[in-house]
Amino acid sequence: MRIAMISEHASPLAVLGEQGAGGQGAGDGATGGEGAGGQHVHVAELAAELVGQGHDVRVYTRRDSPALPDAVPTGDGYQVWHVPAGPARRLPSAELLPHLGEFGRWLAGQWRDGGWLPDVAHAHFWTSGLATVHAGRRAGVPVVLTYHALGAAAARRQRDPRHAGPPGRLGYERALGRAVDRVVVQSQEEVGELVRLGVPRSRMALVPAGVNERIFRPDGPVAPRDPARPRVLTVGRLAERMGLQEVVRAMPAVPDAECVIVGGPPVGLLPADGFARRLTALAESCGVADRVRLVGAVPRAELAAWYRSADVLVAAPWHEPFGLTPLEGMACGVPVVGTDVGGIADTVVDGLTGDLVPPRDPRALGVAIRRLLADNVRRFAYATAALDRIRSRYSWRRCAEQLSAVYASVGAAARPAPAMA
Ligand code: UDP
Repeated sequence: MRIAMISEHASPLAVLGEQGAGGQGAGDGATGGEGAGGQHVHVAELAAELVGQGHDVRVYTRRDSPALPDAVPTGDGYQVWHVPAGPARRLPSAELLPHLGEFGRWLAGQWRDGGWLPDVAHAHFWTSGLATVHAGRRAGVPVVLTYHALGAAAARRQRDPRHAGPPGRLGYERALGRAVDRVVVQSQEEVGELVRLGVPRSRMALVPAGVNERIFRPDGPVAPRDPARPRVLTVGRLAERMGLQEVVRAMPAVPDAECVIVGGPPVGLLPADGFARRLTALAESCGVADRVRLVGAVPRAELAAWYRSADVLVAAPWHEPFGLTPLEGMACGVPVVGTDVGGIADTVVDGLTGDLVPPRDPRALGVAIRRLLADNVRRFAYATAALDRIRSRYSWRRCAEQLSAVYASVGAAARPAPAMA
């Protein structure tokens, strides 16, 4: 199949190290954080796997720098096309909206006249969805949408209406659920959110993301650590919704362990990061400053070594549409303590591959981490079961196979029925 992937603000080139740094949050500042980070990784890994399964894939992302060429071939066999829509610089998501029509018109023109008409277009995030529905209608291409994050869910989980995104987002998300041919859902929680939004269940396909098992595996280099001191690790962007403040607050209940926080800006820029400074001040006021270490962004190629160095991976967000980092930790053979939200509630099986605790509850988090660190047998059993779960359910191969079936079904529905003999 010819597959167009539309990811207007999250370019896979950020993950491949060809643009920006690392794979995390390359669009954070520009997009208010929602939808960036894991979305770059998701699009890059999925595109590569679909190519590996024999498909012809192009990824379309907005041209946000004048230096970007029109099309970039990647070593993974897909192309990244830079769509001219709006000013060639990073834009906050609220300012993107007026340019999505132009994005869609450009796509439709390319598809109709450029000699490469896709069989299906898969949009990532609601903004890409708007542009893609526009293009799909003009060019006669069926559209599949992965929301990645829903404004209403973010606002509810974060108990703050400002996280619902720019005005109109809720209405657009609702309309998109009916306008596209299929919605790819990433977690059971999202199914409920979409039902609440009025999206018919029959339009949804639950296809969880995967993990790159070539990078994230139990064997390989291990980041340096003090063997006498248990290591609690967290990996992710430095943002309030990731619950890092609860992890720091949990540390007094976990004596002797060190807490390593990977993510955010590169280490040299941490002193200028307001959230990093607040976390450091919090660690001081909790009396654990000597046991909490922020290491900044780690390049993707080195991340597995950090996971392997941990005794426990903690993923404590208030809200997490899917959450790749718990999967990456599990694939490296590390037991996870996670919050019972979003995709984590599906990926971590409580009491079998890890422990789930309520969000925003440093006490519960502290108890779970301390108990797990004190119990070698339980940690080993969780890690073993987690690896098994990853291998049987969360490979990109499985994800791409399931998506291929979804693409084929919407493509077949869009094609006219064969004439009767
Ligand atoms: N990541 C990275 N370097 C870092 C921190 C994170 O490459 O220093 C990657 C991490 O491996 C994961 C992604 O960024 O693949 C974050 O995705 P996740 O779904 O966990 O978080 P979200 O998109 O919700 O921020």
